[in-house]
Order: sequence, then C-alpha cells, then structure tokens
Amino acid sequence: AADLPHVAESDPTAKALDYVEDASTSKNPKHKAGDVCANCQFYTDAGAKPYGPCQLFPGKSVNAKGWCVSHTTRKA
Ligand code: SF4
Repeated sequence: AADLPHVAESDPTAKALDYVEDASTSKNPKHKAGDVCANCQFYTDAGAKPYGPCQLFPGKSVNAKGWCVSHTTRKA
C-alpha cells in the first residue's frame, strides 16, 4: 500500500472532500484537532505511515497526518 500514488490536494475527489495533506492546515469547520487519516475508519491499514490506503481513494494513498470532511473516527 505504501507504493500507491499519493492523492494530490488538486485531485477532483480530494477537492470535493476538502482533503489536505496536513490536518493542522485544514480550514474546514468540521475539522477537530487530533482528527487525522491515521485514526479514521476509512484508513484501512492503521499502522501505515507516512502514507496509507483510504477506502474513499481507491488505488491511491493518503497522508497519515491528512484529513478530509469524511473523517470518521475508527472504533477501537
Ligand atoms: Fe483521510 Fe478518512 Fe478522509 Fe480517507 S476518509 S482521506 S482516511 S480522513
């Protein structure tokens, strides 16, 4: 999964979901401090970093420290 191409912030789906590579830079009002791709349920390889797979971006990888508006905290 680490080999998958990284999602660009300019990618149309990324733009639609307000994806950012660095969650701390998000200006989206739904972003909460501490929410990052690595603790999102759609990030299917919890330990993967610095990039890992996201179900919403098939065939690509997202930044473990990234964020998008679909963030849903993974249940333990
Ligand atoms: Fe990151 Fe989750 Fe959005 Fe995928 S759905 S880009 S893992 S915050």
